[in-house]
Amino acid sequence: MRTRTVAEPYKIKMVEPLRMTTREERERAIREAGFNTFLLRSEDVYIDLLTDSGTTAMSDAQWSAMMRGDEAYAGARSFYRLEAAQKEIYGFKHMIPTHQGRAAEHLTSQIRIKPGQYVPMNMYFTTTRAHVERAGGIFYDCIVDEAKDPWSDFPWKGNVDVAKLQKLVDQVGPESIAYLSISPCVNMAGGQPFSMANLREVAAWADRYGLPIIFDATRAVENAYFIQQREEGYAGVPVARILREMMRLGEGCTVSSKKDNLVNIGGFLATNNDAFALKAKELVVVFEGMPTYGGLAGRDLEALAQGMREMVEDAYIASRVEQVAYLGRRLSEAGVPMVRPVGGHAVFLDAKRFLPHLAQDQFPAQTLAAALYLDSGVRAMERGIVSAGRNHKTGDHHRPELELVRLTIPRRVYTNLHMDVVAESCIELFEHRETIKGLRMVYEPESLRFFQARFEELEAVAC
Ligand SMILES: *Cc1c(COP(=O)(O)O)cnc(C)c1O
Repeated sequence: MRTRTVAEPYKIKMVEPLRMTTREERERAIREAGFNTFLLRSEDVYIDLLTDSGTTAMSDAQWSAMMRGDEAYAGARSFYRLEAAQKEIYGFKHMIPTHQGRAAEHLTSQIRIKPGQYVPMNMYFTTTRAHVERAGGIFYDCIVDEAKDPWSDFPWKGNVDVAKLQKLVDQVGPESIAYLSISPCVNMAGGQPFSMANLREVAAWADRYGLPIIFDATRAVENAYFIQQREEGYAGVPVARILREMMRLGEGCTVSSKKDNLVNIGGFLATNNDAFALKAKELVVVFEGMPTYGGLAGRDLEALAQGMREMVEDAYIASRVEQVAYLGRRLSEAGVPMVRPVGGHAVFLDAKRFLPHLAQDQFPAQTLAAALYLDSGVRAMERGIVSAGRNHKTGDHHRPELELVRLTIPRRVYTNLHMDVVAESCIELFEHRETIKGLRMVYEPESLRFFQARFEELEAVAC
């Protein structure tokens, strides 16, 4: 049988015009932005692949649900509708909304970590790790080694290495561990999933020592889709069922609703632990607001409740993840170097192999992101030596193994023709790669420098 095209499971009701710029306009814009794509105005961007956080297109059902937002200060109807959606979809007993994911991480870390305790995580996410450390916790990486090899085709690079957990318990004892922070579709590893078999093994291990799992469930639906596609016994099982099965193995979760949940702002904390929920309700009032709105408007709660129902529709999540795979396929067929396998939300170009003539001090990934913008108005993000920052003791750059450019696909926003434009631009740059010159940093903020650092072009030097 011939395979048939599977199109997006929606049609477009409202459009937002895109502005195509000239090469001269883009040259001016990138110079003004100091060759840093974070400093471009979105008005000057044609296709924006900076992030998939909060950049989702909402559905007609979400927009209309917002009209019935109950803006009562306490006990709003909208909260109870959201709570019911969470119970049905994630399955936890208690839920506390927050304005973003990091606010839920803040509450969790403050309540659950005693200073000096370890928090094992499968790799890390920037804000999650920052809140753990602010609460006096110690990050312990328990991800499998394959996660750190961009050329390994291992399908479960988000897996936890249980031997690494055992080693930690043997060294410090279970009482020195606050909880396990397990993240589906690990962002910093390229959006790589764990398998259900691995999660079950981790949960059984944690049970033996009485250690709870608190998921960073921000990308749990994308992970559930990979389980459906790749893991034995899950073909044809609805993603909604797989998600519930994953969540049942944990005590609770924190979520950034700006990703899977299909809204532009929001997050939440959910748990089956009564004492934890009670403490979180005490603390949320100090930072976010009443536990029935947590820093969000009633209409935001409505959009979130509806977004949760839509995110587990099999046709939707298939189209979302397969669009990322489509871009990855176009690039890999043309031989463009990238991280494999392609993850759930982004394609990562390998700038070291793309621009082998540039030393790491000439910022290959920063250079490539700027060159891509110059060529086609596509905005991507650097994940390399600039993002890694400096070692404050020695004063030298941290030199990460990987120099990557992240092409992150927003949900329901672009069509595959836009993906073709992105692919063609990357391919053409790759064909002319030796003409791309490196950069020199001329302004460097002290912390999180990648957001605001400024650069100038290096002149081509004869060597
Ligand atoms: C985005 C994200 C967060 C932080 O959430 P915000 O809503 O940006 O505060 C935490 N963990 C993961 C895995 C994320 O992707």
